[in-house]
Amino acid sequence: MAVYAHPDDEAFGSGGTLAKYAAQGCDVYVVTATRGEAGNIATPELATPANLPDVREQELRCACRIYGAHPPIFMGYQDGQLTIVHQGQAVARLVRIIRELRPDVIITFGPDGIYGHYDHIAVHRWTSIAFDLAADPDCFPDLLQGACQPHQVRKLYFRALTESQLAGMVSNGMSSTVMMDGVPFPFTAYREDEITTVIDVSEWLQVKLAGIRCHATQLGHDNPFVTMPEEIMYQRWLCTESYILARSTVGWPQGIETDLFERL
Ligand SMILES: [Zn+2]
Repeated sequence: MAVYAHPDDEAFGSGGTLAKYAAQGCDVYVVTATRGEAGNIATPELATPANLPDVREQELRCACRIYGAHPPIFMGYQDGQLTIVHQGQAVARLVRIIRELRPDVIITFGPDGIYGHYDHIAVHRWTSIAFDLAADPDCFPDLLQGACQPHQVRKLYFRALTESQLAGMVSNGMSSTVMMDGVPFPFTAYREDEITTVIDVSEWLQVKLAGIRCHATQLGHDNPFVTMPEEIMYQRWLCTESYILARSTVGWPQGIETDLFERL
């Protein structure tokens, strides 16, 4: 189960992972806090500010179909407003989802929010707390009816961009910052020795790119992910997706893991 803030958050750094595990027969779910109504419209013919949330919902549905995941789950919060959502309410909703779907592994943002996006950091907090509380029968006892019993997720992973992945992006003409309201927010890049888990998604690269391209309102016609020349594809920064194992009930890896389900 992946928990993110906006439609398209799943695509760039974990679309290959989702596709890989769906292809292996896992039940893959994407939970998103918002429908992305505060996003840019890079392709004006595809959406207006009024219908952007509906269009972006369809874009994420398209991407999940392509990954082979279940249809996405929308929490329905307002894009750009997650820091003022009642944290206890959001955590309770995630606990319900975890107890119903009973995932073995959850991936979400780390405390860096990839580039410090406030919504991403809020989702990082909610998901980390929900990981702990979903297993505790004393927490949210009103969510314990029927099939909604406590559930211990085995592993929690934070998505993490590495220094070499960021260097690969920049050397292919992408920015090392994201502009939000006129302010540049730099990507946080982790040293290789801080990474616990690297998933090779080269076999699923075309699926990953197709998933990214579902989010057409966010890309624009000249986006490198749309125009991607053949020689860029299959470079390591695009073919590996990196994570930091943050919680585990099944021990810790010796060296770099290459599978989210190692030890399960
Ligand atoms: Zn986002």
